[in-house]
Amino acid sequence: MNRDLHEDVFCGLCGADNPKLLFGTHQLPGGKIGGVVRCRTCGLVYRNVRQNAASIRRYFEQGEDADLSPDWIAGRKKAFAEHLILLESFRRNNRILDVGAGHGYFLSTCADRGWNCYGVETSRRAVDYAQRNFGLSLYCGAFEEAVYPDEYFDAVTFFNVLEFLPDPKSALQKTHQLLRPGGVVTVRFSNAVFHVAAYRFFLFLGRIHRRLNHGDQAVIHLYAFDKNSITRLLLESGFEEIKMSWTPLSWTTTSHERIGSWRKLACKLLDACACFFHLVSFKSLLISPSLTAIARKG
Ligand SMILES: [Zn+2]
Repeated sequence: MNRDLHEDVFCGLCGADNPKLLFGTHQLPGGKIGGVVRCRTCGLVYRNVRQNAASIRRYFEQGEDADLSPDWIAGRKKAFAEHLILLESFRRNNRILDVGAGHGYFLSTCADRGWNCYGVETSRRAVDYAQRNFGLSLYCGAFEEAVYPDEYFDAVTFFNVLEFLPDPKSALQKTHQLLRPGGVVTVRFSNAVFHVAAYRFFLFLGRIHRRLNHGDQAVIHLYAFDKNSITRLLLESGFEEIKMSWTPLSWTTTSHERIGSWRKLACKLLDACACFFHLVSFKSLLISPSLTAIARKG
């Protein structure tokens, strides 16, 4: 592990240095273990040793392969179209900002419905792709550097992006500033409750037979939020009327790797189970791999 490229961090929600190790990955000087931890003070799951901001930025600037699979595109467009229905009632000045806009599929769906679209994306390749394919003009760089007038947007969206940002609280505080009064932020995030349990389950299987362990720590990024931690983060950033929604599974790969029919069937079964428990618990049990939080600026 190259110490020059990494940093030790405290909890990104309450600021405490009171971590309980969930999965250890790095032995640090002095015998300390770094990895995926849960803050004993507030419950946030995060990586207490991580690549530093410059190193993370370099990684995302390289971007990902723009040769996206039809499955991935179809899955995302369907989810985006459903999401836009929720935002329709907040449309006043008709401006929407997508942070971590990627290849522009969400904003192209917004443009189809008449929104004036703004986006921030660190990958130059993704920005070029969005320009070439959808005529979108995205800001290429980090969100904290992007400049917009205060109270400019009706809606700001983060689709599986907030957990990659080194300082999610300051990103949400900036979002609050950019939204008009009554505007809305939506955050789709990987659900820590699901991913920590899934990783532990695969560790257990791995003890039975090494080949059964398909757990991947990489699904937990800099942070892994859950219903409680994202609610607190939004409240402390000035938002109110926070609603949490169950998000359908979208287990597809961005590449052209074929997803086998057994895996598709397993995904549909899991989806149905998550939906069933969600409904029979009067929508209080949120166990799907991703959740969406929607909050309003007062
Ligand atoms: Zn904490």
